[in-house]
Amino acid sequence: MYVTRKIFLEARNCMRKAYLMARAAKGGGEEELSRHQEFLIDSGGRIVELARRRFTGGVLVSEASPEAAVAKTLELINDSSVRVIFNAAFTNGAAFARPDIIERDEIGDAWRIIDVKCVAYSKGGAKRPRGRTGRYFTEAAYALMVMNLCGVKVSGVFVMFVSRRYRLTSPESEMFTVMECTVETQKLAKSFEEFRLSILNGLLARELPAASITTICKNCIYYQGCPVSEIKHPVFLFNSINQKKFAQMIDDGYHSITDIPDGYFRYPADYLYYIMRESVKSGKSFIGPHFKKALESICWPAYYLDFESLASVLPVYENSLPYEHLLVQYSLHVKESPACGPEGVRHFEYIVKPRRDCRRELFESLADNIGDTGSIIVYSDFEKLCIRRAAEKYPCLRQRLTAMLERIFDLCEFMRRNYYHPEFKGLYSIKKILPVLVPGMNYDALAVRSGGDAIVKHYQLAIGALSEDEALRVKRELFEYCSQDTLAMVRLHERLIQIGATL
Ligand code: SF4
Repeated sequence: MYVTRKIFLEARNCMRKAYLMARAAKGGGEEELSRHQEFLIDSGGRIVELARRRFTGGVLVSEASPEAAVAKTLELINDSSVRVIFNAAFTNGAAFARPDIIERDEIGDAWRIIDVKCVAYSKGGAKRPRGRTGRYFTEAAYALMVMNLCGVKVSGVFVMFVSRRYRLTSPESEMFTVMECTVETQKLAKSFEEFRLSILNGLLARELPAASITTICKNCIYYQGCPVSEIKHPVFLFNSINQKKFAQMIDDGYHSITDIPDGYFRYPADYLYYIMRESVKSGKSFIGPHFKKALESICWPAYYLDFESLASVLPVYENSLPYEHLLVQYSLHVKESPACGPEGVRHFEYIVKPRRDCRRELFESLADNIGDTGSIIVYSDFEKLCIRRAAEKYPCLRQRLTAMLERIFDLCEFMRRNYYHPEFKGLYSIKKILPVLVPGMNYDALAVRSGGDAIVKHYQLAIGALSEDEALRVKRELFEYCSQDTLAMVRLHERLIQIGATL
């Protein structure tokens, strides 16, 4: 069994999970990936390929089996004519690393590690990537630790980022920016070294490690069957819980929300936790004291608005940036008054043309359809942010877009402050709460079922990767998806009005 960086670092969060991951990797078992996760992995692979083009004469270690890859790497290291190795493999005990690129230094007896990140970064003037563990450096630091253990001399460590200044029309030579991180990775490698043996011993043990509740349990693929899953209403379900608060609850001996005593949270200071605890303890929905008043602040006609965007590491339009969120679609349902039936609800939509930056047209269309009065109901702060940015970017639309900002009502924020149902299980995403509040309405029958799916389809449209027929079909699917998001808001609002009427 081999321990990669991912497994090694996961062991710091949960030894049991890392233990299971290591065995799944050995047996070829894999976590099922969403379309969007696959898209990100493909993008990462493409960026590594492009980065390697900067190193002429590099030799690729294509062997998949760790033993064969390690043997091939050793052979290449011993061949002084080889200056650059791609996907080299090193192992010491169970620790196993495959740095993207290693380059022999000028003297010839040491190597530089170059790790490629599918992350946009701007050199000149920008800050170095931050984070508690320098998360962009962990891959290189792990490779450094394993190479040190193998007795391979490393004279420098570098990370290649996609340059934020790169444009569609820029030469390939301007695609990357390189940052030296020898000092940071040496520090990290040293800290890894401190717990290396205990982690490897834990992972190689016969016994499955014990489970202990952490915030990562919430999204753990091994949750089913784990003793943690026997805790009813576990505290990691608290919405937006931070590590400090979570650790405090565990220290205080509370594993289930129902264990938490009265007075532990205060309303409104800890409103998110307070609301959830009250609701879970009573087994009923919690309705905050300002529910009705806040809901009544919505002015009619009500405009239910949702944007779809696309973000890709390499720019898709001439004037766009790496990872820039490009607006590509909107859906707008309009309801004149609360009494208005389904036939009185109007719908507008817009989707960009393939291979063209139509952001300005999108906002012109929106400004024409959204009227001058009435609330604009959204279900995140994304729409507000996009409209504010567009108001700065397009002077001729500034006045109309700025006026829209005053009319926005964030239904998600309203929910978080005023309503919770035990069946939400700590989540406020519209797809999660809809089946609870509007039974029968869901996304199951749609071809596009998530924002991630929509990003992948929009990317295919934007780069012109689809035939005319395929593009038509995909557009139809995207219209259905985005329109479902705004219709969901219409129905949710109707349901909330019903609830308000009972108060
Ligand atoms: S559910 Fe939690 S304790 Fe169980 S394996 Fe996953 S992360 Fe570890």
